[in-house]
Order: sequence, then C-alpha cells, then structure tokens
Amino acid sequence: MHLAFHDSLTGLGNRSFLFENLQTQLNAPARRDKSSLYLMHVGLDRFQSVNELFGYQNGDALLKEAAERIEDLLSDEDIAVRLGADEFCILFGRINSQDQARRMALRLLQLMEKPYTLQGIEFPVTVSIGVCEVESRYTDGEDLLRAGATALERAKRQGGNCYVFYDQAIFHETLRAIETTLQLRTAVEQNQLELYYQPLVDMRDLSIYGVESLVRWNHPTRGLLPPGAFIELAEEAGSIIPMGVWAMEQTVADIRTMTQQGGRSLVISLNVSSRQLDDPDFLRHVKKLVSNCGIDPSLLQLEITESVFVRDPQRVGYLLQDIRALGVKIALDDFGTGYSSLSYLSNFPIDVLKIDQSFVRNMMHHRLNLDIVKMLIELSRKADMRVVGEGVETEEQAMALLHAGCNFGQGYLYSRPVPLSNLVLQLRQGIRLPEVKVQS
Ligand code: C2E
Ligand code: CA
Ligand code: CA
Repeated sequence: MHLAFHDSLTGLGNRSFLFENLQTQLNAPARRDKSSLYLMHVGLDRFQSVNELFGYQNGDALLKEAAERIEDLLSDEDIAVRLGADEFCILFGRINSQDQARRMALRLLQLMEKPYTLQGIEFPVTVSIGVCEVESRYTDGEDLLRAGATALERAKRQGGNCYVFYDQAIFHETLRAIETTLQLRTAVEQNQLELYYQPLVDMRDLSIYGVESLVRWNHPTRGLLPPGAFIELAEEAGSIIPMGVWAMEQTVADIRTMTQQGGRSLVISLNVSSRQLDDPDFLRHVKKLVSNCGIDPSLLQLEITESVFVRDPQRVGYLLQDIRALGVKIALDDFGTGYSSLSYLSNFPIDVLKIDQSFVRNMMHHRLNLDIVKMLIELSRKADMRVVGEGVETEEQAMALLHAGCNFGQGYLYSRPVPLSNLVLQLRQGIRLPEVKVQS
C-alpha cells in the first residue's frame, strides 16, 4: 500500500495518492465552513541544469531537500506529493481567501529560493507555482490537475520564480489555443495564409533594395491574424514546417510578380524559426527555392534568431555553411534581445545583423541604448556585415541611425508590411515620407 501511494525518493505521496484524496474531497458533501481547498503545482526552475552540472545523485539530494522544505510548510490538513521528476503538488485543506492563498504562494517561493548546498557550492534554485482553487464546478480530479499544470506552465513561461492563478481567462485562452492549433493544421491546404511584404530601405536615398516577407493568416472567423497570434502555436505543434515550405513556394511565385510588375530584382528576406532548421528536409527546400526563384541566390536571405544556436550549435553551424554555399545570405534577427552573445557573430557565418526594434525605439531616450546601437554598428562594420535598423518609426530615429553609420532600415516610417499588389505600387512610385506638419 505504502509503495503504491508514495514516492520512494522523497517519501512524499505520489500522483495516485493525490488523486485519491482529491476525488474523495470532490465527492464529499459541501464543506460547511468558509475555508476552501487550494491546489498548488510547484515546479523547480531549470532543474535539468542541476543534474547536468552536479550529477543525478546531487539532483536527487536537492529534490529531497525541496520535499523537506515543502513538508515544513504543511499543516495537518494539507498533503504534498511528488508528481514528476521536478514537480510537486500541494493540496491545502484550509485556506480562507484568495489573499491567504497568495500569501501562502509567496511564502513557498521564499522558502524554496534559499540556496541549496551542493558539493560545497551554494546553488540557488527557484520554483514556479500554479495555483488553482478547488471550486465546486470541478467534479473530476484530472480536470483539476490539468488546470494546475496549465497555471504552472504559465508561471514558467513568465520566467519562473513566480506564481500564477488559474482563472477563467486562462481557461478560455487555453481552449482558444487548442482550437487555433487544430485550425492551423488545415490553414495551408485551405489557402488561408498570405505573405505580406515590408520594404527594406536604403535610408540615404529612400530606395527600396529588398523586402521582408511576413506571414498573415486569413482566419475564417477571426479575420486577418498577425503572426503573433499563431507562430508560437505553429512551432509547438509542428505546423510551422509545412507553413515554412508553403512560404518558400509562395515566395517563388511572388518574386516573379515583383520582377515583372515591379520592374526589378530585390533582396527577399524570409523568416525561419529554429524548429524549421531542425527539419532534416530544410536544406532540400532551400535548394529548391534557389533553383526555382529565377533570381541570383545572393538576393535570397534567411532571417534566424540567436535561439537557433542554443541546442546544437555545431549542427546549425554546418547547416548555415551549407546554405551559404548555395549563395544564400543569413541575417541575424532581433539582435540584442536574446542571449546576445557576441561570440555568435564570430563563430557563425552571418551576413546581416538586424538591430532589434526595442533599441531603435529607445535610443532617443536612453543614452545606453544609443551606445549599444553604435557598438553593434561598429561591430558589424568590422566583421563586414550589413547592419539594418528595425522598427524605424520617426525621421529622428532614421537620422540617428544614419549618423551612427547604419544606412539600412525598415519600419512604419517607410511602410508597414503590405500585400503584394500594394508592394508593386510602392516599387513603381517609390517611398514617400509622411509630411511633417509645421505648427504655426
Ligand atoms: P520580425 O521578424 O522581427 O518582424 C518584424 C515585425 O515588426 C513585424 O511584425 C513587423 O510588422 C513589425 N514592424 C515593422 N516595422 C515596425 C515599426 O516601425 N514599428 C513597429 N512597432 N513594428 C514594426 P509581424 O508581421 O507581426 O511579425 C511578427 C514576427 O512573427 C516576426 O518578427 C517574425 O519573428 C515572425 N514571423 C513573421 N512571418 C514569419 C514567417 O513567415 N515565418 C516565421 N517562422 N516567422 C515569421
Ligand atoms: Ca524578421
Ligand atoms: Ca526582427
């Protein structure tokens, strides 16, 4: 009995134990006092790195100590279990209000963040907490556990060392995400995706030298959706792969229109996510793009972010070299926001550096941002990379970038991303800056 309901490492209960208890509580006649039950899912942040740095034995020791700290917090009416590798769950039997639950979650955060001593080294490990009130609408323990797990995932996504309450808003968002993920699967087949193009501009003479393609989804009921509403889901569910293949094929068709109707060849910059680079067929698709596009491959550019280097830098390095051997250029997107390791710039073949819009936006207000922008420009000049300022919205920002030595930019000042037909018009007419109204 003991083995069936307990976790052998920590001595806490296990999932079955929690489940039994939950089910009993849910089936029990309404509680007479005002107190209610709360479920808290507790996940150790980045626990995997403890195992990697100190080995599994130390990892286990840490888990045991974490379990002890949790037990210290419990009263007679609470139970704690270990749910998975680095995940615990506490069922609090008597909490009087949401405020009290918040205070309890805070106490838990503080208790858990005290450094652990591993091999003589003080090692800080924080936790994330998903809090869920056991309301009467729940009849099934599984539903509750799922709700708590969702809230925990949310807390982790917010960066950890925090708690998140599961509420109706999360419930509806989760439902919508599931629905969107399902609809995404058929979005490509049903021709619901479209590429918009944003001009890449030589800020010295306002000439358009290229375009960045940005996907949009003509959703059957929600209208035109920006990538922010679905790219992450597409990455998680894997539909980003067919979507990326579609984008390359569509690009081939659109290049033809741009060249014929717009009258010239442009740099075409496509966004690719790290998930796409994992696809063993990715290089084959790029080769197909190169052979079908009908323009000089050096006009094709793939935009990647630093995140692609994290997991398997060596493989990605080789892949990028293969892509470059085809003549295709590599741009590093959103530079400055991620890990921003300058070593990426020297270790990987990169042709273009795109300075993230947050720096461009803030460079007029914060000296440090201006200095970072200047440093990146100087660095790209030395490494012989083209540097592009993203999110240029005002002439003032354009002037500041030009002044610092960055000649290329992209942003609402010149044009928003537009459908192909509008782009063709822009190519013919050229960019016109909005008139500045002079106040008398
Ligand atoms: P990104 O690659 O950094 O693209 C630039 C984003 O900034 C675009 O948002 C663009 O509309 C917006 N933007 C451009 N100029 C300005 C400006 O002056 N001010 C402001 N506030 N925003 C500006 P969008 O189109 O919503 O795309 C968001 C992100 O989605 C992109 O960020 C990119 O990471 C991703 N994405 C877009 N299309 C694709 C795609 O085909 N494949 C993949 N994997 N990701 C894509
Ligand atoms: Ca981009
Ligand atoms: Ca960007």
